[in-house]
Amino acid sequence: MAGLRLYNTLTRSVDEFIPQDPQRAGMYCCGPTVYNYAHIGNLRTYVFEDTLRRTLRLNGYTPFHVMNITDVGHLESDADEGEDKMVKGARREGLDVWQLARKYETAWLADMALLNIERPEVICRATEHIDDMVALVERLLERGLAYVTSDAVYFDTGRFPRYADLARLDLHGLQAGAGGRVSQQGAKRHPNDFALWFMGRPRHIMQWDSPWGRGYPGWHIECSAMSMKYLGATIDIHCGGVDHIQVHHTNEIAQSEGATGQPFVRYWLHGQWLLIDSEKMSKSGENFLTLKTLCDRGYDPLAYRFFCFQAHYRSELRFTWEALDAAQQGLRRIYSMDPSDDPIKEPAERADARAEVLDSLNNDLNIPQMVGLLNRIGSPALWLEFDAVLGLDLAARLAQRDADVPQEIQNIVDQRNEARKRRDWSESDRLRDELTAMGYDVADTPRGTEIRKRVI
Ligand code: AMP
Ligand code: ZN
Repeated sequence: MAGLRLYNTLTRSVDEFIPQDPQRAGMYCCGPTVYNYAHIGNLRTYVFEDTLRRTLRLNGYTPFHVMNITDVGHLESDADEGEDKMVKGARREGLDVWQLARKYETAWLADMALLNIERPEVICRATEHIDDMVALVERLLERGLAYVTSDAVYFDTGRFPRYADLARLDLHGLQAGAGGRVSQQGAKRHPNDFALWFMGRPRHIMQWDSPWGRGYPGWHIECSAMSMKYLGATIDIHCGGVDHIQVHHTNEIAQSEGATGQPFVRYWLHGQWLLIDSEKMSKSGENFLTLKTLCDRGYDPLAYRFFCFQAHYRSELRFTWEALDAAQQGLRRIYSMDPSDDPIKEPAERADARAEVLDSLNNDLNIPQMVGLLNRIGSPALWLEFDAVLGLDLAARLAQRDADVPQEIQNIVDQRNEARKRRDWSESDRLRDELTAMGYDVADTPRGTEIRKRVI
């Protein structure tokens, strides 16, 4: 029986997953830049990462999951250009940058909880790790991989031969500004070089002392410093959205491997876009939807989680309200299952079905196929078991649905049965509406009125 296999952006193939420590699987995921609410595209990426950590656990590994909060240093373009996103956000809202960061970090944590995304073992704020970043920059300078100019300390990409590997960049063909990947600005020597530490920018609000002058860290150094602090020089898994391959993760590898001389990451995993109107949803664009908007329109947050399972994490997923509707209907069907009615009775048959479902999951997290199989097999026991990965809160919702009916509700049911005996249909209808308004689905059966608590 094959174990877990994952598509590795570094090798461009689906590779067997073997962690360094047979028990523990370390993973680092690039977290939010907290200058605005997360949009549902960001949340798609976090749902994917959550299913990965749950899959690791199902395979017997204990996940050790680290996620950063970028609360400084992420400029408007990944190519070190423009204003810090935090500074811009603070001006927009009339808050100071620290208040802004806390506001959106809290909102993000609430969204994560609503989506049943398990809390990573470590959530670390960039602003609380400035010393680690400064130490890493010093190390790179010592090793001759960085240089100091009047406006920043830059990484010298020409001194790092594997720079093009992850993204398979054509460094000779690339020109500054051409694809938007890099730009020639400031005092750097080469367009591919990137800032590790910015200084001489008195208008920037968040500043710290450093051996090179007061300033602030570049965005890429945050992730190298914090991931290695909590997970060591070599990390099992590193995740993020596909947008990070070309610049952010390429730069993280250069910084980390440049400093330690060790391989930085063994498996790189990247989640594809959520699209809306055929475009990538983005925080800076106006097309962004938040989880709150979905909830305000009457959707259960877990319907969005279930919607994410419509596509493999490496495929684009197009958001439409119709598709979200269909996901909510699908989830409603799942929540109406009857666990006492399982088509699979034989243990051997169950073991075969379980192995088939697990294999689709272990095949690079093919969750759409796994959900299809679970639907086809129709075994509540298997749904409940694999909900450890799907995170649809199945056991809790079924328990809520089947909880004892409170006496006041039972009284209405009894009154309605009486009314029906008297053939008082208008009273019967009135009592049905009352029950519906109190959150129950009502059915007329030969045994009389039957009710079931609505849980979605
Ligand atoms: P940010 O807060 O902008 O730094 O992004 C947080 C995470 O969301 C990163 O891993 C991004 O790659 C990812 N991301 C950004 N936009 C989208 C999108 N439209 N669909 C899926 N993931 C996205
Ligand atoms: Zn990162």
